[in-house]
Amino acid sequence: MAENPKIILPDIPNYHKLEVYKQHGGYESFKKILTWTKDQVIDEVKKSNLRGRGGACFPTGLKWSFMPKDDSKPKYLAINGDESEPGSFKDRQIFESNPHQLIEGILIANYAMGNKAGYIYIRGEYHKWVTLMQDAVDEAYVAGLVGPKMKETFGTDFVTDIYVHKGAGAYICGEETSLMNSLEGDRAYPRVKPPFPAQRGLWGMPTTVNNIETIAAVPAIIKMGPENYAKLGAAGHPGTLLYGVSGHVNKPGVYELETGITLRSLIYDVCGGVPGGKKVKAVIPGGSSMPPLTGDELDINMDEESLKQIGTHIGTAGVMVMDEDTDIVAVTLRIAHFYHHESCGQCTPCREGCGWLEKILKRLVKSEASSQDLDLLLSVCDNIEGNTICALGDAAAWPVRGFVQKFRSDFEARVKVNRSFQSLNVVHGKRATASNLITTL
Ligand code: SF4
Repeated sequence: MAENPKIILPDIPNYHKLEVYKQHGGYESFKKILTWTKDQVIDEVKKSNLRGRGGACFPTGLKWSFMPKDDSKPKYLAINGDESEPGSFKDRQIFESNPHQLIEGILIANYAMGNKAGYIYIRGEYHKWVTLMQDAVDEAYVAGLVGPKMKETFGTDFVTDIYVHKGAGAYICGEETSLMNSLEGDRAYPRVKPPFPAQRGLWGMPTTVNNIETIAAVPAIIKMGPENYAKLGAAGHPGTLLYGVSGHVNKPGVYELETGITLRSLIYDVCGGVPGGKKVKAVIPGGSSMPPLTGDELDINMDEESLKQIGTHIGTAGVMVMDEDTDIVAVTLRIAHFYHHESCGQCTPCREGCGWLEKILKRLVKSEASSQDLDLLLSVCDNIEGNTICALGDAAAWPVRGFVQKFRSDFEARVKVNRSFQSLNVVHGKRATASNLITTL
């Protein structure tokens, strides 16, 4: 396997410490761009073709260009480290191993958009990582790298602040508009769009919301040059990704690799294959909201354009591997339960639909479902998708539909068992149990 560039999680001891980060060129990218115009910085990010790492893969430079140029209003950056989706656990590696690159990325982004402040929003349960990140921000303030002392340190009029904010402990806080409500101290309900955050965001002011990994990549892009970054990995979705691999692999963990590596290589070359030499039955490629792949689809390249062609997405690159013994119906129920529990309840298709999905799947797991229930399940998915205020509705529908479509025989097997039991009920006129089934056979 070719050597992979590690531009976000380099193998450098104590890289999280300010002095070590500076010894390796830390904060030099920010110094460099201070001689550029804001538009030049945005153009460089556009040239790199960096796409958001939070799941939507939206081009970062383009997103930054949506912010109004008028400097009379305060503008903000919110950096989303909520990562509450099952299977996603990459951002905490950045908080732990490379917090200053994230801070430097915020400085560059805030300069490019003229932002007054950046808010690092971290998942509520990540107490350890909130503390580590706060320590790094405090260290940067003391060193004059952030806040009022920036004028002296960098000889610039540009000053910006950075705050660390602990999330409210719900999955929905990772949705960009509910994250803003949460930051403002309100209940984390998603807002209807438009207006989009760049028009009316935090406290009614223009705001950009980016993912932690996205912003952490920016200093590296400035350092290496956008053209060189754009050559890494897959052409349409370049750079490196923090793949968080979990489930049935011998070496689970977070791996920084170029985009476009095959899923097979990720599982077998990087993660040491499946325990016991078992076959792969299913893989969710980007966090629990993404439609699954089968064990016959492992030669797909792990980048957004390739995955989109086969009906799924890279999401957060949280790769969940399931071996041949996995109960797919039970997995689908577990995922549906999560989204039902996390639905904020604002819109009917999500609030009611997620409950329906869970109820039908419970019937299937208990082999109490009828054959019509599979089509009902798909119909409920159709009625949720695209009909809700935020993307949680889609996130609930996609994996259920994907599992039913790709593993239909697993679901039908539950129905068939039920029908065998039902016919026995008719013949014997009593409740079928495993023991009287055996007796009858
Ligand atoms: Fe709330 Fe679900 Fe509607 Fe999103 S889709 S606003 S989570 S009810």
